Parts: sequence; structure tokens; C-alpha cells
Amino acid sequence: MVINIEYTTTRYIRTSKLGNEHVYFRKKTIVTLRCDKCGLIFKRDKGSIAPDRLTNRYYHVCSNCDAKRFAQEKGVESRKIWDMPVSSLKKLGEL
Ligand SMILES: [Zn+2]
Repeated sequence: MVINIEYTTTRYIRTSKLGNEHVYFRKKTIVTLRCDKCGLIFKRDKGSIAPDRLTNRYYHVCSNCDAKRFAQEKGVESRKIWDMPVSSLKKLGEL
């Protein structure tokens, strides 16, 4: 789950071939996310996330959790819903 997008500026100094020091800045966009498995809040560079995945239509999993196992669990949940008979009296939350 995307919580926040923030920007950080980093200051760098490079030395030119004549020995002069030049200061330059680089902006970085950092996305704050909440793990959809364990609820941990973690940060990630925007550059390392595919642009399509920056919405809450996708799940986000932290580095401590197993993303593939999480995806399998979601598949099982979906399959339970698809396999339900239309006449079932169960609510979706009870599965
Ligand atoms: Zn997690």
C-alpha cells in the first residue's frame, strides 16, 4: 500500500580537471509503502519500482516477507471465491 511520496536532495562535490570543486545536487524520490503481508512500513526508491505498480491496485511486500508465497496465498483466496456456488450463503469475509 502506497502511503507517501517524498523527495530528498543529496549534495555532491566533484573536482574538475583544473582542481576546482563544483557542488551539485541530485533529487531522489522516495516512496513510503506498507507491506500488505506483515504491515511493516518501509521505504523504496521510486526508480526501483515499476511505474505501473505505484498505485494501490497492486500489493506491495517488504523485503522480510516472501513475495512469491504471498502471491500464492492471494491466488488461493481468489480461487475459493471463484469456486463458490452462486447459491452459497457464505459471506466473502468468512472464507
Ligand atoms: Zn512484510
